[in-house]
Amino acid sequence: MKFIVGNWKMNGTWDEKETFLKALKNVKTNNKIIICMPFTLLYGNDHGITIGAQNISEYNNGAYTGDISGKMLKDADIKYVLVGHSERRLYHNETNAIVKAKANAAIKNGITPIICIGETATDKNAGRTMTVVKKMLLECIPKTCKYIIAYEPRWAIGSGKTPTKEEITAIFEMIHKTLHQVGCENIALLYGGSVDSTNAKQFANVPHVDGLLVGGASLKSDTFLPIIKSID
Ligand code: PEP
Repeated sequence: MKFIVGNWKMNGTWDEKETFLKALKNVKTNNKIIICMPFTLLYGNDHGITIGAQNISEYNNGAYTGDISGKMLKDADIKYVLVGHSERRLYHNETNAIVKAKANAAIKNGITPIICIGETATDKNAGRTMTVVKKMLLECIPKTCKYIIAYEPRWAIGSGKTPTKEEITAIFEMIHKTLHQVGCENIALLYGGSVDSTNAKQFANVPHVDGLLVGGASLKSDTFLPIIKSID
């Protein structure tokens, strides 16, 4: 079983969600499909596809205008939430410490955080990928081993560029080994960054890759269904 996680970002109306979920309704798959939708679309989880959230507050309630807490997500029957996506880090200044606090808030409410980590193009060009990603990983993970890690090189998100097989094999080996060293076995590891139906299978087959995080290609059933089918 692989995870195939979609990230709709700030896209989607109620009608678009209904159309999308209807198209996916009868798909036969052994994989776990999760679509992380905007807050306005989290309710109405009745099509057999798991709906996840894209953000969570590190606090449980209080004077934090515009934020949504783990308690609220739990109330909406949400089981998965993205934390530390590179766009949250870039546009909302989320640090590793904030990401870790958000992951802990999710776990406290019985929600699995999907913790996103990944190097920038500058890091990559300076040959710092391994050290940067390892540091991010160690600074973001909670003590309790109840999370998923999504490795998403920032330069690969929405760019059509992807790491080579050698690069991706080495980084997943390092992430797997690091988690083993901190006593966390069986953590699901996802790859994200310009995944489409032509490359999904090759990423899903890399050792220690337990699934995919898909942005742009998850928005329409026409592009998402072929990904699901390609890795069954
Ligand atoms: C993402 O934003 O998490 C992502 C992987 O985007 P894309 O698939 O469009 O590169």
